[in-house]
Amino acid sequence: MTTSFKDYVKGVEATLSDEEREMLDVFRAYYSTFRKRLATSEAENRDLTQAANLLSLDFSASEAARERAEANLRQEWWLNHGHAFSALYGDDGEMQCASCPCDFKRESIENLRAWVHSGRLARAARASTEEGKD
Ligand SMILES: [Zn+2]
Repeated sequence: MTTSFKDYVKGVEATLSDEEREMLDVFRAYYSTFRKRLATSEAENRDLTQAANLLSLDFSASEAARERAEANLRQEWWLNHGHAFSALYGDDGEMQCASCPCDFKRESIENLRAWVHSGRLARAARASTEEGKD
């Protein structure tokens, strides 16, 4: 006849003194709490790992979104900065203008903004002066 592990433990327990049995109960309660804590911390670690993964995904996604937004802005400024379309050169992804010192693909976004903004202000000023003549 084979003895199950449970029966074996029961057999061992039967040989324990009251004091030893009490110690065993304390140990079992402690072990049960320890297992619960271990399970919780494993779940927390998983959450942390997932959060870290989501954060890094978010960073790379927002970096790509920033690059797209900047490329769109450069193109918008290149097409609509006030000079004739015939002056624009856009082969091979270039964004240049024969009437501008600016390279709309390579110039820093801050310098481009200042250039386009001052050009638009100058045109607006000319337009309002011409309106004043009427
Ligand atoms: Zn231009």
